[in-house]
Amino acid sequence: MNIVLLGAPGAGKGTQSEKLIEEFGFCHISTGDMLRAAVKAGTELGKKAKTYMDAGDLVPDDLIIGLVTERLSEPDTEAGFILDGFPRTSAQAVALDAELSKLDRPLDVALLIDVDPEVIVKRISSRRVCRQCGYVGTVEDKVCPKCGGEMYQRDDDNEATVRNRLDVYNTSTAPLIDYYRGCDLLVTIDGDRKPDVVYEEVKEALGL
Ligand code: AMP
Repeated sequence: MNIVLLGAPGAGKGTQSEKLIEEFGFCHISTGDMLRAAVKAGTELGKKAKTYMDAGDLVPDDLIIGLVTERLSEPDTEAGFILDGFPRTSAQAVALDAELSKLDRPLDVALLIDVDPEVIVKRISSRRVCRQCGYVGTVEDKVCPKCGGEMYQRDDDNEATVRNRLDVYNTSTAPLIDYYRGCDLLVTIDGDRKPDVVYEEVKEALGL
């Protein structure tokens, strides 16, 4: 199954992806994770992307489309993937369609996890991530409950940057909801509930 996950930053895309991957073994393609890895490794892409990421702005389409196109050519994506955080602009959605049609691997569903923006600001400001395994927790998790690793706050998870990320989402990414509705691929889930409750509904919506 080939899935695009839509939703504002902090809606729970990463958490739901993690659960789906653990249970069903889909290939997880998170552009945010790929960019953070590039920043950490100090690659050319990482250097270019960091300024945009720190401000909560989108990295230019040409950089990100190349990254995803390359990733989709890897064999582990053939059995099904979850695209998390991509596409985020109409140009990215069009480029994705073109690439998937070239590969003859069309999308099955665009799953929107819908959460109120004010809930998101609170949620992201208290979000903490494990440096070792990427587990997403809260400020309450002093160490990672999964692997004991150090929990940290992402540079772009402060309130001012989060508000900008939400503005960027509303302007550039939210129009994709209509785009995928028009392609008859959109499924919407209310994400303003506990992760396990959302997950049950996600599985039902995907027929899993
Ligand atoms: P995320 O982890 O998905 O919230 O992404 C963190 C940051 O990485 C975003 O605020 C953007 O700066 C950048 N980013 C991730 N995915 C994309 C994308 N598809 N297009 C442009 N920028 C992206």
